[in-house]
Parts: sequence; C-alpha cells; structure tokens
Amino acid sequence: MKRVVSGIKPSGDLTLGNYLGAMKRWAENQHKEGYENFFFVANLHAITVKQDADQLKKRTYDIIAWLLTVGVDPNRSVIFVQSMIPAHSEICWILNNYVTMGELGKMTQFKDKSAKSGREGQLAGLYDYPVLMAGDVLLYDADEIPVGIDQVQHVELSRSIAQRFNNTHGETFKLPKATLSEKTSKIMSLNDPLKKMSKSDTEDSYISLDENPEKIIRKFKRAVTDSENSIRYGEDKPAISNLLVILSEFTEKSIDELVREYEGKGYGQFKKDIGEIVADKLTYLQQKFAEVRNDESRLKSIISQGNSNASILANEKVSIVKDKLGLI
Ligand code: ATP
Ligand code: MG
Repeated sequence: MKRVVSGIKPSGDLTLGNYLGAMKRWAENQHKEGYENFFFVANLHAITVKQDADQLKKRTYDIIAWLLTVGVDPNRSVIFVQSMIPAHSEICWILNNYVTMGELGKMTQFKDKSAKSGREGQLAGLYDYPVLMAGDVLLYDADEIPVGIDQVQHVELSRSIAQRFNNTHGETFKLPKATLSEKTSKIMSLNDPLKKMSKSDTEDSYISLDENPEKIIRKFKRAVTDSENSIRYGEDKPAISNLLVILSEFTEKSIDELVREYEGKGYGQFKKDIGEIVADKLTYLQQKFAEVRNDESRLKSIISQGNSNASILANEKVSIVKDKLGLI
C-alpha cells in the first residue's frame, strides 16, 4: 500500500492552478488501486502571511467544500485540518534541529522575498515553513506527494531532513517523492506567462474557482498572448501553451487535437472559446459547491472523522520520534 499526502493553504481564493495542478488530480488518483490518500488544509502555513481570522476560518471550510465538490471522497481519502492535529507543530520543532540555516536560506519563497524587501525584516515563520511542510508529510510515512513544480524543492528538503534524522537515529521516516503531472504541474499567470498562477498574486493574474462567468470570459479575453498570431504549443509560445493546457483539461481533448482545430484561427476566437468553456464548467461546479458548502455540520463531521484518522498515525510517529530523542 502506498500513501499519498498533500495540502492546500487557505491563503486566498482557490485558482485554476490549484484545481488543475492539485485538487482535480487528487480526485482522479483516488481511484488508483493500492493507494491511501491524505489531503489537508494547510492553515498553519497560511499564517506566514498576515490573515484575517474570520476569512481564514471561512476559507478553511471553503477548501474542504471544494475538495468534496471536485470529487475528493471522504470514504476514499482522509480529509483533515492541519492546525487541529498538534503533532504537526510538534514535529516541526523537533525537525528544526535537523536542518541548517543554509538549507532554509535557499528556499525560493524566502530568497525571493528577501531579495525584494530585505532579509532582516522577514518573519521567522516564512523562513521555517519548509520544515513544517517536511513534518506534514514525514508524519504519515508518505510515499508520494502530488504537487505542482513549485513544491518540488520542498519535497527534496523533506527527503534531506528525513535522511539526516534516519542517519542519526536509525530508520524512522520514509523518504517521500514528489509526483508531477505532465502538463498541469505549472499553470501560468494570465498576465505573465513566465510566472506561475498563484492565489496570493494580483486579481487579474488568476481565475478563481468562484469567479462569475462574465469575469472569467473577460479575464481570458485580456490574457497576455505571444507574438505571431497562431495557436501552437511550444517554448517560444508560453502564453498560448498555457491556454492550450487549460483548454485541453476542460475539454478533455489533446493539445494536438486543439492545435488542429484552431489552425488558421486567431487569438480572438481562441480566447473567447476558452473563456466560455471554463465559465460553463466553473458555473456548474459553483452550483455544486454552494450545496456542499451550505451543509456546514456535514463538513465539520467530515473534518472530525479525518482528523481522528490522521491523528492516529501522526501521534504514533511523534511518540516514536520522542522516544528516540529521549523526550519523555
Ligand atoms: P500561494 O500563492 O498562497 O502560495 P498557491 O496558489 O501557490 O498559493 P498553495 O496552497 O501554495 O497555492 O498550493 C496548493 C497546491 O496547488 C500545491 O500542490 C501547489 O503545487 C499547487 N499549485 C499552486 N499553484 C499552481 C499552479 N499555478 N499550477 C499548478 N499547481 C499549482
Ligand atoms: Mg504556493
């Protein structure tokens, strides 16, 4: 049996990047034989950036409801909330002693933010969150971490931390592996196709899952395109390639098929079609979401069941670790 673990931060409105790069794949992969799935709301990670308390709470339930909406099934997957399992915070503190400042200083987000606004003023939480992330997966002996490309660096760090701990204390943690989807592991921003789409970026750069249809159509219409007005997939066409990936996911047609379909047609038609197709599908999902989200007592009971299943493994791992360290 292989174990899959992955999470999403309630740090903004979920985007097409989160849907295509993570949630949709999680839902599909649940049907593979021989896998146990654990998906969680990474709310402890969200607070590395200032959050409004009411918003954070609301978004936590939103994520659970979106997971259910896109087909993550609580009977097949353990769905839980990170902050409700204290073992995550506990393991983070312990693992802090198996990672160096040098390693953490190389993590992209901290490096980028430090380069932009100086290192001294950055919060320790932002510096340290990759260790919490390592704990998130090491607690569960995860084999596979289905993530977008942006997270590969963190999974690699988790492996190093696990390896170092194992070398010192004997076999304790399994070394996790990041699994990427071929095309959707990096959905790009609509106004800068060289940057990944992110929920914490500016509003016109992403499509959020709860966006209204007019806005979706408008955003695609305004999306940045490449030079030479032809619909082709390739490194020299990052904007169009990104739109092709999105359209392919929403139509279940291959990229080749779409390129043939749009031969001789211009960007205008192409972007109009994507906007309409995505708007249709999201409107359908939004209706489903509204029903699921409305039943908060069901959401609470799913969380509580998930937390209790996840806690068993997490607490067991923390006790093994404490024992090895002589922590009574
Ligand atoms: P933030 O900007 O706050 O970091 P985010 O949009 O990057 O938000 P996360 O919660 O950090 O979202 O990531 C949740 C999951 O979604 C991760 O597995 C991540 O790799 C994946 N993901 C995020 N953005 C994209 C994207 N543009 N393309 C593919 N996958 C993505
Ligand atoms: Mg992110």
